[in-house]
Parts: sequence; structure tokens; C-alpha cells
Amino acid sequence: MFGLMQSQGLMISSILKHAARHHGSGEVVSRTHENTTHRYTWRDVEARSRRLVRVLQKLGIEAGDRVGTLAWNGYRHLEVYYAAPGMAAICHTINPRLHPDDVAYIVNHAADKVLFVDSSFASLITTIAPKIADTVKTVVMLTDADNMPEVTLAPGMTLACYDQIMDAADDDYVWPTFDENTASALCYTSGTTGRPRGVLYSHRSTWLHTYAITMPDLMGIRATSRVLPVVPMFHVNAWGSPYAAALTGAALVLPGRHMDGASLATLMNAERVDFTAGVPTVWLGLLQHLRTSGEKLTTVKRIVTGGSAAPPLLIEAFRDEYGIMLEHAWGMTELSPLGTFNAPKTGQAGLSRDAAGQHMLKQGRAAPGIDMKIVDGDGKELPWDGVAFGDLMVKGPWVASAYYGDEPGSTLTADGWFATGDVATIDADGFMEITDRSKDVIKSGGEWISSITLENIAVSHPDVAEAAVIAALHPKWDERPLLLVVAAPGRTIDPASVLAVYEGKVAKWWLPDEVVVVPELPHTATGKLLKTSLRTQYKDHYLKV
Ligand code: ADP
Repeated sequence: MFGLMQSQGLMISSILKHAARHHGSGEVVSRTHENTTHRYTWRDVEARSRRLVRVLQKLGIEAGDRVGTLAWNGYRHLEVYYAAPGMAAICHTINPRLHPDDVAYIVNHAADKVLFVDSSFASLITTIAPKIADTVKTVVMLTDADNMPEVTLAPGMTLACYDQIMDAADDDYVWPTFDENTASALCYTSGTTGRPRGVLYSHRSTWLHTYAITMPDLMGIRATSRVLPVVPMFHVNAWGSPYAAALTGAALVLPGRHMDGASLATLMNAERVDFTAGVPTVWLGLLQHLRTSGEKLTTVKRIVTGGSAAPPLLIEAFRDEYGIMLEHAWGMTELSPLGTFNAPKTGQAGLSRDAAGQHMLKQGRAAPGIDMKIVDGDGKELPWDGVAFGDLMVKGPWVASAYYGDEPGSTLTADGWFATGDVATIDADGFMEITDRSKDVIKSGGEWISSITLENIAVSHPDVAEAAVIAALHPKWDERPLLLVVAAPGRTIDPASVLAVYEGKVAKWWLPDEVVVVPELPHTATGKLLKTSLRTQYKDHYLKV
């Protein structure tokens, strides 16, 4: 017997309609490319998104078509976020920091018909235009007529100015309802572990993810919040914050391309931001700015960090020097992205300051809706004792079942679990801690060593700015850890003193065999350590001696 409740489909347009109707005067503030401030309301976002649908229709976009974006966080990008799925097309956000060949590959793979591009990427689009001319018919620059940059396209492609085509359109459009499982957005993984692969979200998965992330023990976003996603809108939908802000009626503050510490601090204080989210590299930049300038953050209460492990010094510095909680989240493109969040349970109430700091390094417990487990090499579930570590598997209604173009279910095990590629422990309270990417774990004499643990300890040394631990081949032990370190500004690194900080913190056999000081470490387009390239360079290091 079915229940007797309304079976209203979960449409992304209804998130925006809710914002416009119930939080109509809620603010959306954008720092523009030209460094001016643009302000309007959720009511305006909804009306302009309807107008943008009319534009998309004129450009020949139909249900199911991919609408690509190469853009920073700003109000025009937000309008594409809502207009494309609202008309049953797909908003495909592309990471402009990738190599131009990868950007062209992704555009062609997705077969984007139209691209919405920020002025900053005028030369990128000129470079790739000949390679994408078969699929992209129109490139719309996200600016006004006075600021149109120089762009050269390939024959057959048309260039347009966003503000001009918007001015020429009407907003006479009624949001349609259709199957909630319809695709809404497409985002490619950054390709740290191979060719980029597309994850195709649905209206339903986005709604459920949005509900979950706004909960108090996750991002805890509410109508009075002022939310600044520093994480780009091309990096897994800015972790869902553009949807979460609309659903709750929170103010949304969009930083554009200005993501250095000084610009962020100014924006946070000027716009009274209380909640912000981004990757550790951004928070290190902000911390450095606060320390050197003496500036204080007057309104920020919570900073969510994710995307890679939060270095302990970052959590401690924000807590002890600025009284701001850095909260640790874990996720991935395939999870929309949020999987876990480190919010304390009653069991953590009595922890000492040190133990609490240590506990905050964990990536957290499963968001309601997500289940997780760790398994050994044979797929056998491992205990939740905080010690045993194994491959992390997840399932839930906002977890990918296949990559774009593949058969539904093709990324899953026979019983429906998705292998994250991360290696983790889970403690008795259900808190998960990533110990490695499965490809980065160091297999020494048949035992596993966590590269992240070793990196976290290395960066607690005052002379070390950044550290990477990789598996280098070893004649006796198969693999041994090799530590690569970058010196903090004005410091010189003494390898012996770096090794001394490991004393008493890890088993002796975990100790890196060698410390190599390097001028810098390579990073991916989303700011993560590019260990694949380090492994290629250093894998024979111990064989050479
Ligand atoms: P890619 O897989 O292409 O790097 P994602 O942005 O989807 O792109 O990255 C997901 C991965 O990032 C996770 O599988 C995990 O390895 C890492 N990650 C995300 N958040 C954290 C975190 N808080 N701590 C450690 N690693 C993290």
C-alpha cells in the first residue's frame, strides 16, 4: 500500500522558487571581475534565471543538452546554475585551472553546446576554440558590453555578451516539473588518478544532498547565515553551498577570482560573513595574511575545510589565535560532494584541549543518508576501532552509480557499494579518518604506512611549510617512505631535526628513510599535492643509492 502524501518531484527550480517567495529580500553579493560589488536578492536571481532560460532557448538549448561554464563564483554563474537544470538541461561546470588540453577534452566529452565564460578565461577559450568547434556553437562572455575582452573563436562559432543577450530577452517562463531523476549538473573529477571522468547529478540527488548539508551537525546553514563559498563553483558545485543558501534563505557572498588572503579577509569583514568553506591551501593563505597584517576576522564563526587533509597547525592556529573553529569535512566529486563531517557527539564533550585538537583531524562521521564501511583486500569488513585501516566504501542517494557515458551501476560493487579510493579508519563512535589515497599508501614489507600521518607530523616542524610523503621503491622492503619538504619563508631545513619530530609519534619502522628538501611541490588544479608526478620523479630514489 502506498502512502497518501503528495508526490511532488524534487525540482532544483523549486529550491530557487522557495528562496524567491519566502526569502525574497535575502542577499546575493558578488565581487566582480572588475573588483566592484554587485548586490541583488534571491527574488532577482529567480527572475533573472527565468530570463536566462529564454536566452538558452534562443541559443537552441533543449532538455538534456549540456551547458558548459568556465567561471569563478559570481552572480551570472549562479544564474546558469539555476536556469540550465530548471529547463531540464544540464549545467556542466568546468575547472579552468586544468591544462587547456584537458579542458578541451572535457568539453568534447560532454558535448557542450554553449559555453558561459568569465573574462579571465578569454585567452583560454581562444586557445581551445579550434579543438571544440565541432560541439560548441556559442560562447557567451559573462560580462557587460563595455568589458567584453578580445576573444578569437573558430569558424562556425558565435561570440555573445551575457548582459546584452539577457537585456534582449524576456522572463516570461514558468518552471516546468518533470521526473526528479532527470540529470541536473555535470562535474568532472580533477583527474589526479587518470583521465577526468564525469559525474552526473540529478535533481533528486541535489535536493537530498542540500537537505543533508544544511543540518546543524553538518554545515548548519540557516536564514540568518552569511555564506561565503571560497571553494569554486566549478569544484563539485562549491560543495553544494549555492543550493543550500537558497534553500535556507541565507545570504550568499561570492568572491569572484579574488581568493588571496587579503581579499578574502576584506570581503569577509565587509559583508559580515559568518560561514565559509574551502580547501586548506586557501586557509593557509588567509592565516598568513592575518598573521602578517594583524587584521582580525570580525564576524566569521565557522570555517569548513575539506578537499585534502587539514594540517593540525591550521586547526590549532585558527582556534588558538583567532577563536574560530575550523571544521573538517570529507567528500568527493562522486559524492556531490559531502560524505562525512566532523561535528562532536556527547562523547567528545570532556576531551582535553590536546585530545580535542587531535580529534578534529578526523574527517568525521557519515552524513545522514550516507552509509560507510572499511574493508580489507578481500572485501571483508574491518572493525570500527580507530586502528584497523582499509578501503573506504560508501553508499547513499547522492553517490554516483556510474560515470558519464557509462552503464548505470557500473562503478558499484555487486551489493551496491562505491569504492572511494581512500584508505581510512573508523572509530567506535563512527568517526572516519583518512589515512591515505589507496594509490598513495606505502606498502613496506607487507605492512601499510599512512603518508598523510607522516606529512601532518612533518608540517608541525616550524621550518617546514609543506610536506609530501611518497612510496619509493626499496630493494628489501618493496616500498619505503620518502619525505619531501619545502622550507617555510626565511627558514633552512635540517633533515635530522625534522626526523626528530617523529620521536614517540609513530612506530620506528614508519620513519621516512630520507628527507629531501625541494624548492616547491607540484599541485593539481584543485590545490592538492600531485603525488603521481612526485612518484614518477622519485620512485627510484632508494634504488640509486
Ligand atoms: P579528485 O578525486 O579528482 O582529486 P575530488 O575533488 O573529488 O577530486 O577529490 C576527492 C578526494 O579528495 C577524496 O577521495 C580524498 O582523497 C580527498 N579528500 C577530500 N576531502 C578530504 C579531507 N578532508 N581529508 C583528506 N582527504 C580528503
